[in-house]
Amino acid sequence: MGSELTMDKLVSLCKRRGFVFQSSEIYGGLSSAWDYGPLGVELKKNIQNIWWKEMTQMHDNIVGIDAAILMHPRVWEASGHVENFSDPMVDCKKCKTRFREDQMPEEARNTKVCPDCGGELTEPRQFNLMFSTHMGPVADDGNMVFLRPETAQGIFVNFKNVLQSSRVKIPFGIAQVGKAFRNEITTKNFIFRTCEFEQMEMQFFIHPDEDDKWFEYWKEQRWAYYTEKLGIQPDKIQWHQHGPDELAHYAKDAYDVEYEFPFGWSELEGVHNRTDFDLSRHSEYCGKPINYLEEETKERFTPYVIETSAGLTRTVLTVLSDAYEEQNLGTDAKGKDDIRTVMHFHPNLAPIMVAVFPLVKKDGLAELAKKIETELRSDFTTFYDQSGAIGRRYRRMDEIGTPYCITVDYDSKEDDTVTLRYRDSMEQVRVKVEDLAATIRKGIKDYKRV
Ligand code: ATP
Repeated sequence: MGSELTMDKLVSLCKRRGFVFQSSEIYGGLSSAWDYGPLGVELKKNIQNIWWKEMTQMHDNIVGIDAAILMHPRVWEASGHVENFSDPMVDCKKCKTRFREDQMPEEARNTKVCPDCGGELTEPRQFNLMFSTHMGPVADDGNMVFLRPETAQGIFVNFKNVLQSSRVKIPFGIAQVGKAFRNEITTKNFIFRTCEFEQMEMQFFIHPDEDDKWFEYWKEQRWAYYTEKLGIQPDKIQWHQHGPDELAHYAKDAYDVEYEFPFGWSELEGVHNRTDFDLSRHSEYCGKPINYLEEETKERFTPYVIETSAGLTRTVLTVLSDAYEEQNLGTDAKGKDDIRTVMHFHPNLAPIMVAVFPLVKKDGLAELAKKIETELRSDFTTFYDQSGAIGRRYRRMDEIGTPYCITVDYDSKEDDTVTLRYRDSMEQVRVKVEDLAATIRKGIKDYKRV
């Protein structure tokens, strides 16, 4: 049951409920930049924390770093970004809109007319996607720096530092979460493609003979992360292998995890075999050896890298799209369709895990509900709400994906029990106050979307 999700519906819910706002909206907005509101920041942080835990805590051979956004300009020469990081772009001579040629509709590409106004298009030109700025008071070519277009290079240039300081042995990985910037020509579809975004990347350093094995291992790990840890519906994600014309200049093999967004299947994460490209290039450009000595065999080699590169902000969009459902619950008393909008977030991702309501404010129920809410705070993210009809309070929580609601009523004062309502099934059960935390914890552990 329920009707189709559109991007308009999602953008509107995000604004209405405080997930995502247009950047600088009071000034008319800055296109392709978005701000995360009170609920959005919690959702994003929850996704980041789960990724970090899966990648570092759950693997004893992966460590984290947090590198600076600004790096030495030579980094981007070595990485190939100065030379290769560009898209073919065409401009409309009439309306001045700029398009990425490879993303234009087939017809517009063949006829060379603007898909917006029908005007004449220029020949395609290469457009470098890196944002540049100047370090220091004088703006000249000698002090130009770039905002990093990916977090990966911060890991490669720290390979030796981590190796020497952490006693890690190959195979091992380095994980990082942080901002990246790309001067994207076509930015649309809300937070899918933006000029400022966040990545969650992990580079896994291995012996070159073992690349196929580790590539498969990481593909499996990443699939399980999406379906089991984030609770994404398995029929909404798929693998897409890069053909020879799609492979990046450094890659030997690459698979994308794709999600079926309201606008179609699109990339969410890349799993890449980057070979020894990056370490070799940095060694060449900095003029110092960057390699690894296998102590037992005395073999010295440049490690290969299997990379898992996910967009954090793009995962927020994935989780929002995947969670959204409109359910038609029949007709209400006035004969109108009763539509319930519910976000089926996995409880571990939900910005608010538990909401507590008194049935009415008076007769000590508010105080009791507040006390229960305060006691649950150390275990869960909680929210207290005493305003409006109880049904409306439930619906407000459904719309922001709160998986558990607790209602305190007159019986609660007599027998120390409360109503626990489950978001997905709307089932209501009576639970003793002292058993609440354990019941919710079990619910989270055994959670299956219904
Ligand atoms: P595309 O072909 O869509 O431009 P890409 O293949 O260049 O993306 P990668 O360089 O592999 O992307 O980046 C890894 C991940 O970072 C992507 O899977 C995506 O989740 C995220 N990402 C890349 N560019 C953006 C962007 N402009 N906005 C939001 N997320 C992005």
